[in-house]
Amino acid sequence: MRIDEIEAHAFTIPTDGPGGREQDGTLTWEATTLVLVVARGGGLAGVGYTYADVSAATLVQSKLAAAVTGEDALTPAAATHRMLAAIRNVGRPGAGAMAVSAVDIALWDLKARLLGRSLVTVLPAVHDRVPVYGSGGFTNYSGDRLAGQLAGWVAQGIPRVKIKTGRDPGADPGRLAVARKAIGDAVELFTDANGALTVGQARYWAGRLAEEWGVRWFEEPVSSADLEGLRHVRERAPGGLDIAAGEYAFVPRDFLNLLQPPAVDCLQADVTRCGGITGVLGVSGLSAAHQIDLSAHCAPAVSAHAFCAVERLRHLEYFHDHTRIEALAFDGILEPVDGALVPDPGRPGLGLTVKWPDLEPYRVRVP
Ligand SMILES: [Mg+2]
Repeated sequence: MRIDEIEAHAFTIPTDGPGGREQDGTLTWEATTLVLVVARGGGLAGVGYTYADVSAATLVQSKLAAAVTGEDALTPAAATHRMLAAIRNVGRPGAGAMAVSAVDIALWDLKARLLGRSLVTVLPAVHDRVPVYGSGGFTNYSGDRLAGQLAGWVAQGIPRVKIKTGRDPGADPGRLAVARKAIGDAVELFTDANGALTVGQARYWAGRLAEEWGVRWFEEPVSSADLEGLRHVRERAPGGLDIAAGEYAFVPRDFLNLLQPPAVDCLQADVTRCGGITGVLGVSGLSAAHQIDLSAHCAPAVSAHAFCAVERLRHLEYFHDHTRIEALAFDGILEPVDGALVPDPGRPGLGLTVKWPDLEPYRVRVP
């Protein structure tokens, strides 16, 4: 069976944050663009996606579609290597890797559908479920909004939550106190500074976060591009406070840089950025070889399947923006059960059906 056609669509969906905005340590955004890819072959269609700029959809149409059309629909990894070769001179990291990821996911979904099987059963699955942590807690939320969001995840049975920090360090102690009060002492509290701090600030906050609010996870205390800084913070962080990064790793070497020598206690990978399902399988091997756990960054509808195949799986970021968009875009998304997403082995592919009429109002033209 051959890959007959690759289509790319883009939809820009506004946030539901205060004043239409959401904010973390280093970015303010008003909307998120879903780049949705449909791969057709053998009379069926697979879907994949990435959260990216519309230019990633352009790249799918201008470069990637031709690289895989006519190729074997049952060997998605081979198709992905053809795509990576095709964008050598365009730029593989960044938007290139995100575009490849969306197509790779669509091709894996198509393969599973052609076999009449759930994607999780086609992959070399080690687990049957992926534990999640609730993630949001934007820096521009009011105290009430912050407390309500976190308490909502706890009420859903999710035993760990993450908030954004580092935008205004003077405001963080108050926000952390609100968060700890909202979730109680038994739920794990994580923080993400999105690279906002200097090394000195990060060392100071690592101590306070662990001691005063029992924080267990400190994500991107400094920029993940600052490998020396990240290592410095990790080596001096209190025991029990894990330093994490990896969401901006696009190619295998990016992950290796974080692992050797270790700059993180737990590696992160985004299936919609690092080369799709094919990319995650490679990162899984690196994390196993270095005996460092891997946590899934976002895109829960795909990550729930992909990360069942990760031996050293820690958990998955159940991110507010993405759970909202995926519920709008797809029928068949998974709800957390006992703090985990459990792919249904009886539903073909990713188990998703695109709700095209619901997405249509958000469509943006792919130039
Ligand atoms: Mg993050």
